[in-house]
Amino acid sequence: RQAAYAELRDVEPFTRDGTRITVMMNAGLRDDMSSLAMTGADGVGLFRTEFQFLVSATLPARDRQMRLYRDVLDAAGDKPVIFRTVDIGGDKAVPYLNSQVAERDENPAMGWRALRLSLEREGLLKAQARALLEAAAGRQLSVMFPMVSEPWEFDAAKEVFEEQLEFLRGRRRLLPEAIEYGCMLEVPALAEVLEQIVPRLSFISVGTNDLTQFLFAADRANPKLAERYDWLSPAILRFLQRVVRGVEGYPVRLSVCGEMGGRRLEALAMLGIGYRRLSITPAAVGPIKELVRKVDLNEIGEQMSAWLASPPADMRAALKAWADERGI
Ligand code: PEP
Ligand code: MG
Repeated sequence: RQAAYAELRDVEPFTRDGTRITVMMNAGLRDDMSSLAMTGADGVGLFRTEFQFLVSATLPARDRQMRLYRDVLDAAGDKPVIFRTVDIGGDKAVPYLNSQVAERDENPAMGWRALRLSLEREGLLKAQARALLEAAAGRQLSVMFPMVSEPWEFDAAKEVFEEQLEFLRGRRRLLPEAIEYGCMLEVPALAEVLEQIVPRLSFISVGTNDLTQFLFAADRANPKLAERYDWLSPAILRFLQRVVRGVEGYPVRLSVCGEMGGRRLEALAMLGIGYRRLSITPAAVGPIKELVRKVDLNEIGEQMSAWLASPPADMRAALKAWADERGI
């Protein structure tokens, strides 16, 4: 794998028509950061902070969190990192928070998880905010909130960060050079009120793992359903297309950070729909950069518009044939 990484590391993801696509990677552990240099990814588009919480027997102390975030920023150098606040609960149960909840939550994916939990366990979000603000002293900090379902949840979470920032300012501590906030789009309801939330965001990242589970009402962890619905279904692709249209005209960076972006045909479809920023699993960075170089955005754009207006019987087969014909 390392050899394959090295070979594609320096591939610059320009499309045939000369558009630079941003290809970032997803991470969650200190050790993942070595992949940044190895793959030549443009940064970390999703750092899943919950990994530290999941491998820990107790709630990680603020100082331990801070050290992890600082190490991650050190390892990233001048490449950007987007830290997502904890997404625990749901399928990512932690015994020290969830023992009672797990018994009560009949649908944990739709239950008390991620930002819902963080906003109620305010001490948890405060500690994480402080850890992130301290870790990013003198540098850029990008914070992303998971499972935002209504705009007020974003506002409430940002408020917790701003309070911690004021606290540190009052103590004359070194602050981040700049802070930007964004959120995941993984709950379909948020897509219906985009114009209400997008003006407040620096970036928004579509989490296709949760989004598809909610769109199809199909548990992402249930192996019986894993193959049942296709990411290349018109329902998902039209949804993704509406999101592109919904953010048009706003100075917000739109990206995709679900697993879908790391698959060849899915990435091709998303380029055709208008996505220009992907954050994907490190192993996919090289192959997707290589794919990008074979694509003409106008050509795939026109084709996807036609297919989404009038979907072929089998979108996957149609896309595959289209890609094969062009040696993509
Ligand atoms: C997603 O839901 O698509 C996502 C990127 O987040 P996670 O897989 O951590 O839920
Ligand atoms: Mg998710």
